[in-house]
Amino acid sequence: MSGCIFCRIVAGTAPAHRVYEDETLCAFLDIRPIARGHTLVIPKPHATNLDDLDHELGARIFTLGHRLAKALRRSDLGADGANLLLNDGKSAFQTVHHVHLHVVPRRRGDLLTVARGFVLRRGPEPEAAAAAIRTGLDRLDAEERESRA
Ligand code: 5GP
Ligand code: ZN
Repeated sequence: MSGCIFCRIVAGTAPAHRVYEDETLCAFLDIRPIARGHTLVIPKPHATNLDDLDHELGARIFTLGHRLAKALRRSDLGADGANLLLNDGKSAFQTVHHVHLHVVPRRRGDLLTVARGFVLRRGPEPEAAAAAIRTGLDRLDAEERESRA
């Protein structure tokens, strides 16, 4: 959908700090992060809300959110937890009408930082944050390969 900012990110005609991509999904940093490394997981095909989303894609979105939560713990961002959140519909505060799952890194004792993040919605050095998450995913992959060997 040409008027949709997330479709433009998928198409590569709008910029984003990508952390993961495959045939059906894309994950990139939120432009106004609540916490450093705040990531959005989206389906590549446009779906306005959950009513519009294929079930299989919904399951894949959560699976990637789950992997990102694990990758954040293995990254150098210092996360030891995450909030996964999906705002479905205007009444639920959905502002971008292309389905997306928020993955917000959390760490013990970060309440004040996160409260400030809610107000400021700014994240320094997004390229470095995205690289740290990609490294976390690589570490998770390596760990899974080792446990299978
Ligand atoms: P919602 O309230 O719809 O769940 O959240 C939409 C999110 O998309 C917000 O956190 C907002 O900062 C983010 N967002 C809006 N426009 C852009 C954009 O152009 N690029 C990126 N990376 N994130 C965006
Ligand atoms: Zn879209």
